[in-house]
Amino acid sequence: MIDLRSDTVTRPSPEMLGCMVNAETGDDVYGEDPTVVRLEALAARMTGKEAGLFVTSGTQGNLLALLSHCERGDEYIAGSQAHTYRFEGGGAAVLGGIQPQPLPFNERGELPIEDIHAAIKPDDFHFAKTRLVCLENTMAGKVLSMDYLAEFSDFADQHELAKHLDGARVFNASVKLGIPVSDITKYFDSISICLSKGLAAPLGSVLVGTQALIDRARRWRKMVGGGMRQAGVVAAAGIYALDNNVERLAEDHARASVFAEGVSQLSTLSVTPPETNMVMVHTDQDRFADLRKYLGERAVKISSPRLVFHRDIDDSEVQTLIDLFRSFDQDV
Ligand SMILES: *Cc1c(COP(=O)(O)O)cnc(C)c1O
Repeated sequence: MIDLRSDTVTRPSPEMLGCMVNAETGDDVYGEDPTVVRLEALAARMTGKEAGLFVTSGTQGNLLALLSHCERGDEYIAGSQAHTYRFEGGGAAVLGGIQPQPLPFNERGELPIEDIHAAIKPDDFHFAKTRLVCLENTMAGKVLSMDYLAEFSDFADQHELAKHLDGARVFNASVKLGIPVSDITKYFDSISICLSKGLAAPLGSVLVGTQALIDRARRWRKMVGGGMRQAGVVAAAGIYALDNNVERLAEDHARASVFAEGVSQLSTLSVTPPETNMVMVHTDQDRFADLRKYLGERAVKISSPRLVFHRDIDDSEVQTLIDLFRSFDQDV
């Protein structure tokens, strides 16, 4: 089975499972799980932030960030296709009374500075208070440019807006650019990082930021039921992932490129060359439905036109995929 639906589908390796079995644990709600404490400190150190908080999922990390930056009646600006706006069940509005202000991303995955500027509400009781801007990096597999991040950060600071990064795949961005992740995270007040995607841990995310922000987030985490007890058994997988699975993201990027190159000459569908681990397929809806069925009958899972490469896909499977796409293309 080759599963291209997401990089969330990876299974923990034997080495990672070994770390989990041997993890030192304690009750983390009392702050007594040494492995969780170690993971939080490691994530904070790598991203150049004061503190970290181990959370159940990326959605929880983003939610706690929004709740910790904003108050009831505040507003956050996010992309209209951003996870923080579109794919998190409206949690910030439901639980925090925080209003989203969605804006379209441009083709580079950026929120244009002038669009953010135009969306900031005047200080007037008719309006929600614009408090925070969220970016996403990578955004649909695209890496935000360092020039844009610098400009974005200056702008937000000038307007006293807090800056949150949905960094579910921020290590894909840093590996692609060949820079430490802290060069990216320095432009944000808080960052949520998924351990369960390309980093291949079974679950969990880390939220990082200032100590004060993380203290607020810890309180919210308890409220939404995210206070976990001997969580060191899963935090150990996160430490393993940060220690061992960051640089290898380059292999996923390379395989995505090899695949995209291999199917670049087809007549009934086209693909966008990937910046990181995602290849977008372009074809009409009917043809896509046929493709999904064709692949499904041949032990390849896809769900959307976004094909995601990850640790559990090897070179020979990339070749299998290229061959299958070519034979599908000829089978009009
Ligand atoms: C997966 C993802 C999340 C949320 O992660 P979950 O662990 O699935 O809740 C947030 N943002 C982006 C961009 C993601 O891809």
